[in-house]
Amino acid sequence: MNDNTCGQRTEKERLEWLATAQKYPLELKEVLSLQRIRQAMRHFDGKMYVAYSGGLDSTVLLHLIRREYPDVVAVFADTGQEFESIYSQVRATDNVTWLEPRMSFDEIVKKYGIPMISKKLCRMIQDVKNPTARNAKTVNLRLTGMTQKGEYQPRWKIPNKWMKLLDAPFRVTNKCCGILKIDPTKPYQKRTGEVPFVGVMAEESENRRSSYARGGGCNAFNQSRGASSRPIMFWTEQDILQYVIKYQIPYADIYGEIVLKDGLLAKTGEQRTGCKYCLFGAHMKKGENQFQALARIEPESYKKAIEEYGYAEALDYCGIPWRPVNLGVMGCVECADTETKILISPHKCGCNQMESK
Ligand code: SF4
Repeated sequence: MNDNTCGQRTEKERLEWLATAQKYPLELKEVLSLQRIRQAMRHFDGKMYVAYSGGLDSTVLLHLIRREYPDVVAVFADTGQEFESIYSQVRATDNVTWLEPRMSFDEIVKKYGIPMISKKLCRMIQDVKNPTARNAKTVNLRLTGMTQKGEYQPRWKIPNKWMKLLDAPFRVTNKCCGILKIDPTKPYQKRTGEVPFVGVMAEESENRRSSYARGGGCNAFNQSRGASSRPIMFWTEQDILQYVIKYQIPYADIYGEIVLKDGLLAKTGEQRTGCKYCLFGAHMKKGENQFQALARIEPESYKKAIEEYGYAEALDYCGIPWRPVNLGVMGCVECADTETKILISPHKCGCNQMESK
C-alpha cells in the first residue's frame, strides 16, 4: 500500500503534488500530516515508533504525533558521538528507548578508518583496496569506469581527484552509518514488530525528493529497505521553525534562538546537527566546515579527533581546511542587528524550558 491520500499514482503526479503542498500554510500541513499518521497507525495496528535523533525535525515530528498518540515511543539510536546539547534534549524527553551500537566510534575508526568525503566514495575505495577473485570486474569499474558491457559509466568510477585515497596513509570507511545507526534498530524492530515514523523532508536533498517520488510518497509501506511513514515529507525548514514557535516546543540549545530576519525565520546557532566526528561532505563546504565548527562547539572533541583519530593529517591530505575559523566576537543578535527579532530561545539555565520573547 502506498500513500494515495491525495490520489497521486505516478512519480510525476507525486512531484507535482509535492511542489504544490510545499507551499501550503502550516495549518493545512498539520492536517495532512495527521491524516498520514492516522493512516499509518491503522495500517500497522498502532505498532509504530518515532525515529528520534534529538534534532529539530524529529522533535517537531514527535510533538505532532504525540498530540494524537501520546504513548508512542521515541527510539534514539545513540551513535556515541552526538553533541552534548542533543543528549540533554533526548534526556529531557519522555518515553525514549535508547539503542546502543555493538561497536563504538573509537573502535570503528581504528578498525575501518575515517568516514570522509562521501559514503559512495568510501565504498569505491574499499572495493579497490580489497580485491578478491569475485570483485575483479567491480575493481575495474572503479578504476576505469568501464562496465562489463564496455560502456563508460563515470559515476561508478573513483574521480581522478580522489584516486590519491588509494595510497593514503590512513583508511576511509563507509561502514559507520550501518554499524552505528542502522544495525541497532533492526533487532528493535524485530523484537517489537514496530515500524518507524521518520522526520525527513523532500527539500533537504535531491535524494530525498526522488525517494519521495519513487518510493510512493509519505506512507511507503512496501519498500525493499523496510516500511516507514514519513509524514512531514512535504514540510520545509520554515514550517519546522514556525511549528516550534507556535507550540513553544523545547529544543536543543545548539540551534540557538529562532529569529525573524528579513521576513524569514532563522536559527542563530548551528544549522544542522549530526555525528560530531562525521567528515562526509566537509570538502563541499564553503566557509566553516563541520570539523572547524566542532572546534568552536566542543573543543575537547575537536582535540580528541586530531590527537587520537588523525583527523588533521587526513584532512590535510585531502586539501580540506581543519584549523578553526576566526568568526569574530559573537554578540547578542538583538543588540547587533536591529532588523532581527528573537521569537524563541532555549532557556539559558539549561532546564530545557523555553523563553518566549
Ligand atoms: S553520519 Fe557519519 S559519523 Fe555518523 S554514523 Fe553515519 S558515517 Fe558515521
